[in-house]
Order: sequence, then structure tokens, then C-alpha cells
Amino acid sequence: MKSLSTKREPRKHPYLTEDHQQFRKSLRKFLEREAVPFYDEWESDRIIPRSFWTKMGEQGYLCPDIDEKYGGSETDWGYSVVINEELERVGTGLIGVALHNDIVVPYITSFGTEEQKQRWLPSCVTGRTITAIAMTEPGTGSDLANIKTTARLEGDHYIVNGAKTFITNGIHADLVIVAVKTDTEIRPQHKGVSLLVIERGHQGFSRGRKLDKVGLHSQDTAELFFEDCKVPKENLLGEEGLGFLYLMDKLQQERLLVGIGAQVASEEMLQSTIDYVKSREAFGRPVSQFQNTQFKIAEMATEVEMGRAFLDQLIADHIAGEDVVTKVSMAKWKLTEIARNIASQCMQLHGGYGYMEEYKIARRYRDIPVASIYAGTNDIMKTIIARNLGL
Ligand SMILES: Cc1cc2nc3c(=O)[nH]c(=O)nc-3n(C[C@H](O)[C@H](O)[C@H](O)COP(=O)(O)OP(=O)(O)OC[C@H]3O[C@@H](n4cnc5c(N)ncnc54)[C@H](O)[C@@H]3O)c2cc1C
Repeated sequence: MKSLSTKREPRKHPYLTEDHQQFRKSLRKFLEREAVPFYDEWESDRIIPRSFWTKMGEQGYLCPDIDEKYGGSETDWGYSVVINEELERVGTGLIGVALHNDIVVPYITSFGTEEQKQRWLPSCVTGRTITAIAMTEPGTGSDLANIKTTARLEGDHYIVNGAKTFITNGIHADLVIVAVKTDTEIRPQHKGVSLLVIERGHQGFSRGRKLDKVGLHSQDTAELFFEDCKVPKENLLGEEGLGFLYLMDKLQQERLLVGIGAQVASEEMLQSTIDYVKSREAFGRPVSQFQNTQFKIAEMATEVEMGRAFLDQLIADHIAGEDVVTKVSMAKWKLTEIARNIASQCMQLHGGYGYMEEYKIARRYRDIPVASIYAGTNDIMKTIIARNLGL
């Protein structure tokens, strides 16, 4: 059990240097001070306060990879991995920060004009602007090309009509990248998809309910409505009709992040269960001494180690700019499924206490299933893998 650290030390990843590990230590200290003591409160409030975002921004933990001229630090993606791992260690409810840093803002850095970058990026770095991405609609999620939200160009504005749902950061978001149809006639349908940046205050943009979820309680997830919403045509991201291609490109990093989160969740659940079974006694001996416990832990530890090896290589490949579509899809479904199974088995090994909110495993058990659903369901991941295998 040497490589599966039984101590609470940062793991060593091949793509991380000593500088990354120092950064991890500082971030961990920051989160232990600014997030851990308040996390339960945020869970019951069903939202993370904006003040946490601006504190993250002040310390340089938001969008560190973007250019210095927009306020970033031009760090490599290894720093993003560290941030995502440390946020996940605190709780999956912080996924909205990861979404802002490594999912939404990259659309602007990759596809935005110079004017758009200057307009939006600096406040994304400070945390004054919180971002979201809205693809899913009440009637369609997996079948993204079939979205019904329309954007019609009239003079200097697009007029947007439609609704989006399940939008992470939906309540806080000041800037939302919205997938719309600018051409409803064109075939294949995906050629009609474009991305518009819709901002807080745009006429006709409103928010619906903060959705009541099974888990991720501190993460605000909302419905968004667009009724003859007027969006300046300068807010088109990239080119009309290329939105679907942009989404397919950026969804790879999104899925990788979900894989990273699931892996860290598995590591955390396993470690806390090892600690628990060593301290809990039944029939005059620690629960860890029963062969069933040992075998379950051994099986889970094996899956965690194999998952980590696959993931580390994948992150290194992604950082190197390789085509990772198939392997990202593999990691996304497999690591989230492993985490789901581990949550269930770890709860069982905690006995009745595992079902009590005061034990972290209860929250992890509620939080983990959605990882198999968002960023493209695990079934969709398997369709991608099968297609890329020539089936
Ligand atoms: C907490 C949360 C946060 C989210 N955040 C965001 C966000 O920020 N932005 C955003 O745009 N969306 C977000 N989503 C939406 C999420 O991405 C979708 O829920 C997901 O893509 C699935 O779409 P759907 O819910 O419409 O399910 P459906 O597409 O209706 O799927 C229903 C079932 O059918 C299966 N299925 C569908 N098509 C196929 C197929 N071809 N082959 C085999 N099986 C298939 C699915 O796997 C699933 O089991 C979020 C969802 C949740 C729950």
C-alpha cells in the first residue's frame, strides 16, 4: 500500500513539478480557511456566496491560465488540475468554479475576438463576473443538435427565444454562453447551432427556479428563459453555424474535469473509509479485521490505482495537445462508474453512520451519481467510443 497514500499527503503526478505542489499547499490552506468551515452552511443555503468567488479571484485561483494582459498568470494546465483536485476534496458542490475556470472561460479565450476578450476576461479572473454555459433545454439534452432556442438577427441585435435548464451557476451567472439555432432549416441540424454570450441585464433574459437537486446542494443550478431577448450582434462567439463544432471541441476538457472530480472523490471516499473501519469495533475487533472488509477495500484500492494511472496519462496527453476524444470518453464513464460503486460500498462499510449527514460519505453518496449524467451521459460516452472504434 505504499503508492496508495494512507496519509493525507498530496499525490504525486508525473506532469506536476515542485512549483505545482507548492501552489497546491497554498491553495489547500486557503480552502481550509475560506471554504471548509462554511461548506455545510453553503450546502443548506443551496448556494456559494459571491464573496468566495472574489476571494478565489484575489488569490489568483480563477482562470490562472489566461494571458497576463487580461489579468491571468499564463500558467500551464497542471495548475488547473491542482485547483480542480483541491476543490473536489472540499466537496463536489464547488464544481461551478471548475466550470467557470476550465469550461466556460476557455470558449472566450479560444473563440472570442480581441474586443470580447478585453471586455469579459479581466472580470472573470477577479470573480466579479461568474459564468455559465447553457446547452440543455427542457426538451433535449443528449441530442444537442436538436435544440429549439432560436436567435434571429434583426438589425444590430439577435432576438433570442427559448428556455434552458439544469444550468450550473445559473443563479449567479453574469455571463452565459448560450447554444442557439441561428438557422432552423439547414440540414444536418447541427450546422444551425451558434453560440451567443448573453449577459445579466439583457432585456428579455430571466432566471427561473433554483432547482432542488438530490445532491450538489451548494451548487446553484437553474432554469434560464429568453423572451424576445435582445442580444447585441457583437456578442456572437466565433462564427455563425460553427457552435456545435466549438461545443464538441470544448466538451473534451469538460469531460476530463468530470473524470478528475470522480477520481478524487473515489480517493477521498476510500481513504475516509479506511480510517473509519480501523477505528470502528464490532465483535471485539476493528471492522478492518474482517476479511470481507479487507477484500472490499482491496478491490476498491485496485480500481482507484488503475483509475489514477489511466487518468494521469490522459491528463499528460491532454496537456501535450493530443487527440484524446476516445480516451476522455472512456475515462468519463469508467471513473464516474467506479466512484458510484465506491460510494455505495463505502457507505455500507460505515454501517448506520454512513447514512448520517455528519459523515462525509453520506454527502459523497448523494453527490456522485450526477457525474454519470452531466457533460454527456455515460451512454453517450459509450456511443462515442464505439463509433471511434469503427462500429
Ligand atoms: C446537476 C446538473 C448540472 C448540469 N449542468 C449543466 C450546464 O451547466 N449546462 C448544460 O447545458 N447542461 C447541464 N446539465 C445537463 C446535462 O448535461 C444533461 O442532463 C445531460 O446531457 C443529459 O441530457 P438529458 O437530461 O436531456 O437526458 P436525455 O438526453 O433525455 O437522456 C435520457 C436517457 O436516455 C439516454 N440516451 C439518450 N440518448 C441516447 C443514445 N443515443 N444512446 C443511448 N442512450 C441514450 C441517456 O443516457 C439517459 O440515460 C446539468 C445536469 C445536471 C443534472
